[in-house]
Parts: sequence; structure tokens; C-alpha cells
Amino acid sequence: MTGVKDHVALITGGAQGIGAGIAARFAADGAKVGVLDLNKDAAQATVDQITGIGGTAIALSADVSQRDQVQAAVDELVGEYGSLSILVNNAGVLRDNLLFKMTDDDWTMVMDVHLRGAFLCSQIAQKHMVAQKYGRIISMSSTSARGNRGQINYSTAKAGLQGLTKTLAIELGPFGITANAIAPGFIETAMTKATAERIGTTIEQMREGAAAALPVRRGGVPADIANTAAFFAGEEAGYVTGQVIYVDGGSGLH
Ligand code: NAP
Repeated sequence: MTGVKDHVALITGGAQGIGAGIAARFAADGAKVGVLDLNKDAAQATVDQITGIGGTAIALSADVSQRDQVQAAVDELVGEYGSLSILVNNAGVLRDNLLFKMTDDDWTMVMDVHLRGAFLCSQIAQKHMVAQKYGRIISMSSTSARGNRGQINYSTAKAGLQGLTKTLAIELGPFGITANAIAPGFIETAMTKATAERIGTTIEQMREGAAAALPVRRGGVPADIANTAAFFAGEEAGYVTGQVIYVDGGSGLH
């Protein structure tokens, strides 16, 4: 079982939540990890946790929606570790509102971070993957891709990431590169805590409500997503591409 061992992975939005969970898991499995986030100090805190238990990682600062910044971060990572073979498009933001109140800025911000960010990171990373005829690209969709009240921007972006994933799979498959997406349901992170506050509840109540409605009777944690990312990112998953796995405790089942 080789998994991600000795591969170089770039995790966007890796300073906290799901991205930090994936970075820690990949590092524990032997990958060299670039933890990219807006705030370098926050990314460094994740790196410190990884290196503190013997893993290999560096902190990278970039806004994924800015081509020059993504290019510079990828150059730094490749300069440090010599290659790039795994990309996780995970950076994300919420700007929730009902359709009739949604501003142009809130629409554009969400499209820029999720869609333009994944486009830029994938385009810049694939040059290294194509050259080495090997790569794994994983993008973070959401159960909101099915539609979600108050998230006209976010649900559109998350559905868009599924189309991006399938097109990456078609175009890059001949070069040994797979592209897959994970669609998480409720996962307890800063993002879900912020949503709880916005709708006037607590994260504890939100977790209990989610758990009661789910077949698995519990809320999700970043490690649930990291497990699935580790599968997609592993060498053994080379025949799995263009797929979307819902990691949601069964929220779509009736
Ligand atoms: P999170 O805790 O808010 O972490 C997201 C990270 O992305 C933050 O560190 C954030 O930095 C960073 N980021 C935001 N904009 C960025 C940009 N332009 N460039 C680089 N980094 C940027 O969120 P999470 O819950 O872990 O979610 C991770 C991904 O999973 C997101 O794509 C999210 O949409 C998706 N997802 C989450 C859930 C869930 O229940 N948590 C469910 C479905 C899908 P700042 O904090 O500085 O903004």
C-alpha cells in the first residue's frame, strides 16, 4: 500500500477545518505537504502541528483567486520539494443570502474563490503533473450542489466544481491524472460555526439537529473528509476518476 507516501501535495485553505484535517492525514501517510491559505501565520500553525509529530510540510500564503499568487505558491512548493503530484482544491468562503437580497459582490466573491480558485490551481498544478505523467486532483464540492435555500451563489459554485472535476478527468486522464470531487454534508468547522451564529443557533444545537436527521446519527468531522481524500489521492485509486462522493452521513437518502 503506497497511498500518498513520498508524494508532494498542495492543500488550499489548509490552515483550518477540513483542509487542515486533510493536510494532517496526508502528512501522517508520508506525503510532503504545502499548506496554503490566505493567512500565512494560520497556515504555519497547521504546519507546526504536522512537523511537531514528525511530518513534512511548509506554509504557503496565497489568495487562490489571484493567478500570480497561486503561481508563486506552486513555484515555492516545487522549489522546496521538487515536484507536485496531488492538489486539493479546498479553499472556500460563504456569503449566504436569499436570492432577492444577494449582492453582486457576494455572488462574485463566492465564484472567485471556489470556481476561479479551483480553475487557477488546477491549471497551474497540471503542468507539473502532465510533465511527470502522474497526478491527483480533488475538489471540495458540497451537498449544497443539490440546491440549498440561502446559498444561490455557493450551491451554484459547488455544482460547478462537479463539472470542473469531470472535465479535468476527461482532459487530464491521458496523462495519468485523475480528478474527483468530495461533497461533504455537515462537517463541524469554523465555517459551520459561523453558519450557526448567522442563523441564531449554536454549533451544538446544529450538530444535534444534523445527527438526528442522518442515518448515521452523528455529525461529521474533518477526519471523515480526510479519509475519502486519502483514498482519491492514493496511487491505488488510478482507475477512479470523474467521480463525486457524497460524504454526508446519508443526508441524501430517504
Ligand atoms: P473553513 O474552516 O472556513 O476553512 C476554509 C479555509 O479557506 C480558511 O482557512 C479560509 O481562510 C481559506 N480561504 C478562504 N478564501 C481563500 C482564498 N481566497 N484563498 C486561500 N484560502 C482561502 O471551511 P471548512 O468548513 O473547512 O470548508 C473547507 C471546504 O469544504 C470549503 O470549500 C467548503 O465550502 C467545503 N465544505 C464544507 C462543509 C462543512 O460542513 N464544513 C460542507 C460542505 C463543503 P480565512 O479563514 O482567512 O477566510
